[in-house]
Amino acid sequence: MSRGFNFSAGPATLPTKVLERARDELLEYGAERASVMEISHRSKAFERIAAESEADLRALLAIPDDYAVLFLQGGATQQFALLPMNLAGAGDTADYVLTGLWGEKAAAEAKPHVGVNIAATAAASNYTGVPDPASWALTPGAAYLHLTPNETIQGVEMLDLPALPAGHAPIVADLSSTILSRPLDISRYGVIYAGAQKNIGPAGLVVMIIRRDLLERAGAPRAKILRYADHAANQSLFNTPPTFSWYLAGQVFKWVREQGGVEAMAAANARKASTLYAAIDGSGGFYTNPVEVGARSWMNVPFVLADAALDKAFLAESEAAGLLALKGHKSVGGMRASLYNAMPQAGVDALVAFMRDFQQRHG
Ligand SMILES: *Cc1c(COP(=O)(O)O)cnc(C)c1O
Repeated sequence: MSRGFNFSAGPATLPTKVLERARDELLEYGAERASVMEISHRSKAFERIAAESEADLRALLAIPDDYAVLFLQGGATQQFALLPMNLAGAGDTADYVLTGLWGEKAAAEAKPHVGVNIAATAAASNYTGVPDPASWALTPGAAYLHLTPNETIQGVEMLDLPALPAGHAPIVADLSSTILSRPLDISRYGVIYAGAQKNIGPAGLVVMIIRRDLLERAGAPRAKILRYADHAANQSLFNTPPTFSWYLAGQVFKWVREQGGVEAMAAANARKASTLYAAIDGSGGFYTNPVEVGARSWMNVPFVLADAALDKAFLAESEAAGLLALKGHKSVGGMRASLYNAMPQAGVDALVAFMRDFQQRHG
């Protein structure tokens, strides 16, 4: 057996170099004579891991000093609830723009804690595009505006943040499936959060970038474990963090820097995405992607076969060819290829070659 090209939407493929490094130091980390999984999160060695990972992420995304970086647990989903608990006060409203299922879930989890205004939704078009920002019904004085710039299930991406009216609410963005895939202007966001298991590392970790003035809002929950301000004051070491996931995330950040940073990632990701979309669009309708061209995700590419009766054969044959986890999300059906940072161009080329061959044999 050998490692295949893993197109899973998450937990997702990691850079082989990072896994090899983790393997090499799994039993003994540095001079610790113990695994990184076995040492105290209060040790000097782990303090170094924490400090270096934050510094590397700050360098990669040019994160300004007036933003805190947190390494927490509970996944992106826990933040769906903690965001309104921390950022909204009694009687506040928060705006949500829905471009797919994750935004729907974020809004549903927020409802017990804040007045949720669905400022725009693409549900009527089955989430195949981004509603025109000019039509977003934003609430004056909203606590925040929540966006899911890349919808992992539908494969819909806001490739740029839209221009918004002056004085708009802080933007809170779920970047779980797109962080580090391209440069970001952090100063345009109030809060960025990302579950690790797509572009950052193993599951169990969520990375947050929070403008410091938002840490202490009137509505913050009383339990310290739920308060962003307390996590920030304790450098994300209020309780035991997911140390191994954090360590591996740090290794991924170093790998991204070695590759040339997020600009290099963006160039590679654009090329991978255009390779696959060109193959789909050039298949004469054998394969199709339903998303508006201008909103097609670079990271998650859903596609269906014109003849769904061939799905089973496609999945079995692709897996036998070492192309893993191509089954689409159950709500969309068909196939989905996730092309995160760690997926090499060679993986996409192999997928496209397989798709052509499959079409020739079954078309
Ligand atoms: C994967 C994903 C989530 C869910 O992450 P969990 O770690 O399972 O909570 C949320 N939002 C987006 C955009 C995702 O891709």
